[in-house]
Amino acid sequence: MIIEIDQKSGFCFGVRNAIGKAEETLDSGGMLYSLGHIVHNESEVERLRQIGLITIGHDEFLKLKDCTVLIRAHGEPPAMYEYARQNNITLIDATCPVVLKLQQRVKKAAETMRQENGQVVIFGHQGHAEVTGLVGQTSNEAIIIDHPEDYKKLDLSRPVEIFSQTTKSVDDFRKLTENIRTHSPASRVEAHDTICRQVSNRVPHLHEFATRFDLVVFVGGKQSSNAQVLFDVCKNQNRQSYFVSSPDELNSEWFTGIETVGICGATSTPQWLMEKVAERIKQF
Ligand code: SF4
Repeated sequence: MIIEIDQKSGFCFGVRNAIGKAEETLDSGGMLYSLGHIVHNESEVERLRQIGLITIGHDEFLKLKDCTVLIRAHGEPPAMYEYARQNNITLIDATCPVVLKLQQRVKKAAETMRQENGQVVIFGHQGHAEVTGLVGQTSNEAIIIDHPEDYKKLDLSRPVEIFSQTTKSVDDFRKLTENIRTHSPASRVEAHDTICRQVSNRVPHLHEFATRFDLVVFVGGKQSSNAQVLFDVCKNQNRQSYFVSSPDELNSEWFTGIETVGICGATSTPQWLMEKVAERIKQF
């Protein structure tokens, strides 16, 4: 059986940067908390836990003081920075530069929309950390829309400025924008495609990758929205595509009669995990 790991899968630079900062801080001794999971991958979170990274939720963060906390690549709303400042918490800020720039643009748009009686729209998942960080830039005034059909939530007689969570699908963002433009011909609609190309460029690549093999194993975290989007791309191209989060989830029966296997993953999938999956498949 020929097994190939996709060279373009694996951590994006934002995630690599955050993990590098965590490792660097832990190497120099001392305690480090991560506000939320540093990456949407249970296996990598566990690896970092074993070298001392303590993951906490927002409720726990809001009880801390006099310590060091890492802000992951998704970023945080201004209220978290303010809490840290008031409680002598040193922040290791690993907000991805792409997200940071997006936060600044959303903040500016909120000021403009306030003056024009308009609406800031974030096309993203309610409750996703990046989206919470973006909405926080608007004093929680932004409206979150998760599906292109949900444009009905908006008051289409008023101006609209739309941004996208960095990991949403480009096609869905286009559909949402079209829906809003079609139903609000008289209003000003400004759409900013802020989808990260580290993610969207992988779509055409995986299209091609998934067709080259008899079977595809996609390795990703169960909570990763990016993993879900990219797995769907593989599945649409190759019906023999399987999603696993660890080598233990592989089923030897899938590989009966299979000659070529492609292994790929999300921007949150560590290289070492794809290699472990490949090793396990070789044993079947
Ligand atoms: S997907 Fe893009 S925006 Fe998100 S962390 Fe990676 S590089 Fe940054």
